[in-house]
Amino acid sequence: MSDLLNPMPAFSGLHPLPGRLTGARVEARARANVIIPFATAKPIAPGSTYPAGAFCSTCGLCDTPFIASVATACAFLGDGMARLDALEPALHGRPRDTSGEEAQLGVIQDHFYARAVPSVPGAQWTGIITALACSALESGLVDAVACVAGQPDDPLSPRPLLARTPAEVRSAAGVKPTLSPTLELLPEIVESVKAGSIARLLFIGVGCQVQALRAVELSLGLEKLYVLGTNCVDNGTRAGLNTFLEAASASPATAKHYEFHVDYRVHIVHADEAATPTERIPYFSLPASKLTDVIAPSCYSCTDYANGGADCVVGYMGAPYGGDATPMRSSWQHVVVRNGRGAELVGGLAGRKGSGGGPALETRPVVSSGSRTALVKATVEADDAARRGEGPRSPMPAWLGTILARLLTAFGPRGIEFARYSVDYHALRNFLYIRRHWAKGGGLGGPSSKAGSPPPLPAGVRAIVESYDRDGWVTKLLEADPGPGPPSRVVRKGRTREGWWVGGGRDKSL
Ligand code: FAD
Ligand code: SF4
Ligand code: SF4
Repeated sequence: MSDLLNPMPAFSGLHPLPGRLTGARVEARARANVIIPFATAKPIAPGSTYPAGAFCSTCGLCDTPFIASVATACAFLGDGMARLDALEPALHGRPRDTSGEEAQLGVIQDHFYARAVPSVPGAQWTGIITALACSALESGLVDAVACVAGQPDDPLSPRPLLARTPAEVRSAAGVKPTLSPTLELLPEIVESVKAGSIARLLFIGVGCQVQALRAVELSLGLEKLYVLGTNCVDNGTRAGLNTFLEAASASPATAKHYEFHVDYRVHIVHADEAATPTERIPYFSLPASKLTDVIAPSCYSCTDYANGGADCVVGYMGAPYGGDATPMRSSWQHVVVRNGRGAELVGGLAGRKGSGGGPALETRPVVSSGSRTALVKATVEADDAARRGEGPRSPMPAWLGTILARLLTAFGPRGIEFARYSVDYHALRNFLYIRRHWAKGGGLGGPSSKAGSPPPLPAGVRAIVESYDRDGWVTKLLEADPGPGPPSRVVRKGRTREGWWVGGGRDKSL
């Protein structure tokens, strides 16, 4: 092992959730403490740069008085996503075991494939998330659900919603594949707790949102918080989504859902499936030169694809491909239960028979086959070459890309091994990005680490980087290309709750 990881500051050790360890007394103290530290703090002013600068994922925290906690909550400041190392034992009862699949997937109490039957209309896949959230509301497990609906005039733009009814939860079905300021719901949650209308909450979110939420959890005054997560990688702004759809799809205006599926093709589902059937474009046939600036700097810097701080996580990357005859709305997904709260969430639906009250959860055991390592290295190297402008001049023809995708689907990593491939690749790519951009940034644009000092990594990502650097492979990539420095900062410009993306954006002048 080289000294690649040695310059990183040791994890400083936080105490994010003392209430979990000492029970009701601390919970009560936290409830008594509701909003006192936050009452006087002012949300970030329009025109100001978010504290994490270029690396802000606009999670919403700084648009509320909870900005007072930004230094210890933000996934891109200070210890950042390495806070997971202390969070996981506090939340799940033990740290992840980085010697096996938990390095990629986080703490696993139980995991399986599942699908909601019948599928939920409008859902991204079969609607497991929506069905679990509705079941939690209907059974009284929770009083409200923090989720992300779409804007009335733009269904793919996020509109954070504190849903009180199953109908409201169902209205939020489907992924809005853009950065979402979900934590701007925090003041509404606190007000509802004070008013007595919410005591138990279900929060649906991605890793960066969940980590910030965990840091302020005890200040919300909730009796109980459940967190239902999704996997998340390669997200970006609404403008970036447009760029992607215009480059990838023959009908960008009608696109409703898209996923980088496990068959090495992007599946784009359209609003009227009869008029515009699902497009399946091989990854290798995407016009890479038109896709720069699609992924946000935050998401290139993200080290929590698996959403380690959630109680239960739903994603597709661990499930095998069901064939072209199996659309996303009937495909299996991968569910990871991390602790007892996650089991409570899933238990409500698993026991249901599907009659008179929404879908049931069909389940089956996970599978894993193939080997990921060579493909991970090839993908990272191809990515690096493309970034330096040394990749192929034009994308692979669709027919050839389709053959390659079919071969990889048949003979490459499948099931859990595919999930590990995907996490390894993104962890390594993002590690290189962090080293090339953050270290050179010297703290400009958000990361609070000292000049030339990149942020610490969570144990899972450290283990992944170490395993690929045993022969110095990662070190060589870094030495060959030390990187260009920091990207532009994220600035708040006159945003309103109902018009998140109007006027917001990145300040290119910096
Ligand atoms: P649904 O029942 O349709 O529910 C989707 C839920 O997602 C809704 O409740 C809504 O509140 C929430 N949501 C929508 N948009 C956002 C947003 N922008 N931020 C936070 N929450 C949101 N899985 C993988 O395996 N690999 C990936 O790379 C991957 N990337 C993802 C990126 C994003 C931004 C999101 C939100 C999810 C991603 N997922 C990924 C998870 C996957 O796409 C599905 O969300 C998940 O499998 C659940 O499917 P479903 O049919 O049960 O969801
Ligand atoms: Fe604030 Fe951005 Fe960090 Fe969220 S990601 S806490 S909005 S700086
Ligand atoms: Fe947040 Fe990471 Fe998803 Fe980006 S990729 S939205 S930083 S969880």
